[in-house]
Amino acid sequence: MHQEKIETIKSAIVLADAQNQDELEAYRLKFISKKSVVGELFAEIRNIPNEQKKEYGQLVNEVKQLADNKFQELIDKVNAASKKAKSMDLDLTLPATYIPVGGIHPLTATRQRIIEIFERIGFNLSEGPEIEDDWHNFTALNFPENHPAREMQDTFFIEKNPDIALRTHTSSVQVRVMESHKPPIRTLSPGRVYRNEAISARAHCIFHQVEGLYVDENVGFADLKNTLYHFAKEMFGRETKVRFRPSFFPFTEPSAEIDISCLLCGGKGCNVCKGSGWVEIGGSGMVDPNVLENCGIDSKKYTGFAFGMGIERIAMLKYQIKDLRLFTENDVRFLKQFRSLL
Ligand SMILES: [Zn+2]
Repeated sequence: MHQEKIETIKSAIVLADAQNQDELEAYRLKFISKKSVVGELFAEIRNIPNEQKKEYGQLVNEVKQLADNKFQELIDKVNAASKKAKSMDLDLTLPATYIPVGGIHPLTATRQRIIEIFERIGFNLSEGPEIEDDWHNFTALNFPENHPAREMQDTFFIEKNPDIALRTHTSSVQVRVMESHKPPIRTLSPGRVYRNEAISARAHCIFHQVEGLYVDENVGFADLKNTLYHFAKEMFGRETKVRFRPSFFPFTEPSAEIDISCLLCGGKGCNVCKGSGWVEIGGSGMVDPNVLENCGIDSKKYTGFAFGMGIERIAMLKYQIKDLRLFTENDVRFLKQFRSLL
């Protein structure tokens, strides 16, 4: 009779399970506590005849041992499960944490794009100082003594030494490259330049230029045109047209200003191109023989072309930016719009 009851309890213990604290407590109440079925088995001892007490006692102790062992096993199991659940306590439906990502400044991106285009057709990169002497910025470039660009309104001179100035163009790097290298020379010089001008939507005292120089035997104006056609199409798109307008620069002869067809109206005329259908991107020409000679290059043997373009100008045309000052104001609302560049 007792035997049968004990066996039933034992199999119930073996089959018992718990997934959480509540089920663990239910197990404790059923098999461990004083009022549990096991507790009742102990209470029963007093009704057992004396000669059977020892045997009964052993059986009940076995049940208690079994119940205790199982209880510990279930505690361990529930604890391990809750630990694991805690480590995976992620709500995958929550919005992701926003990590702001910076971007490349539109001028840096434009400069980089210009470099890429010219590097692919064999131009290397060269740099020069932003604080220049008169020779590299003016004299070697064939600027006559009384040229207006030398006057105070255009150039930032060092007060105590009129021979030193902040360079007004990247053409000074041409001179440095020609002085230190023998032709063939094919080089691109991007950099910052300075002019003593009032800051407005269209002018700034600090801006960026990129200078190109190609000196070799038999370099002609056709090479200059083809190089700049290539650049304009790569930079602004296949449909872009280029025109050269006769102009004057002291360091090139002949000289031409470079216009491209207006990107906004495609040449029909709009307020960006002031109705002409064309916008200017820079100046160019064949290097004046005097400049070659000033730099120690034989002008009978070698010819060359040079061009200079404003990086701000190109970025403004490409991205339809109307005010030059935006580039230096560091307004994130403006800069954010270029986050996808490069
Ligand atoms: Zn237009």
